[in-house]
Amino acid sequence: MKLLIMGPPGVGKGTQADRIKNELNIEHLSTGDILRKEAKAKTNVGMDAKLYMDMGRLVPDHILISIVKEHISKSKCENGYLLDGFPRTLPQAQGLDDMMHSIGHDLDCAISLLANEDELVNRLIKRGQESGRTDDTPEVIRNRQQIYWEQTAPLLDFYKRKNLLKEVDGLGEIPEITKRILNILK
Ligand code: AMP
Repeated sequence: MKLLIMGPPGVGKGTQADRIKNELNIEHLSTGDILRKEAKAKTNVGMDAKLYMDMGRLVPDHILISIVKEHISKSKCENGYLLDGFPRTLPQAQGLDDMMHSIGHDLDCAISLLANEDELVNRLIKRGQESGRTDDTPEVIRNRQQIYWEQTAPLLDFYKRKNLLKEVDGLGEIPEITKRILNILK
């Protein structure tokens, strides 16, 4: 199964993606995690990406498209994958379409997690205090939320038109939300 999960920062995409990956035995590809790893290892891509990430801005599309292309064609993704945090812009969505097409993959579903924004900002501030993520400060969080609504929310329409969008209430207990997602995938 080939899936992607979208939703505003803090909605719990990563947590749910991890649980869904285990349930379906597919690969979880988080572009945020991949970029943080690159930044930590101080690779060229990582150093470039960190400049954007620390400001809560999006890393340029071509960097993301080439990272995802490299990963989804690997053998670890043969059984399927769940993209978490990608695509985030229309050019990325188009790029994903093209790259999947070129390797004979079909997207099964785009999951959109929904939640109330104030609740999400509070969650992220708490996560920043606990995890020390440098982009979980109140100012950067507001930036990331704004970017989501400006650049990523239009993708909901993109996938709706392709009949691939499934919306799921992202508020509630973690296992309950996982159940909701698994139900819509049946
Ligand atoms: P995340 O862990 O998904 O919240 O991503 C953290 C940060 O990584 C984002 O705020 C962006 O700076 C960068 N990032 C992750 N995925 C993407 C993407 N698909 N396009 C652009 N930037 C991204």
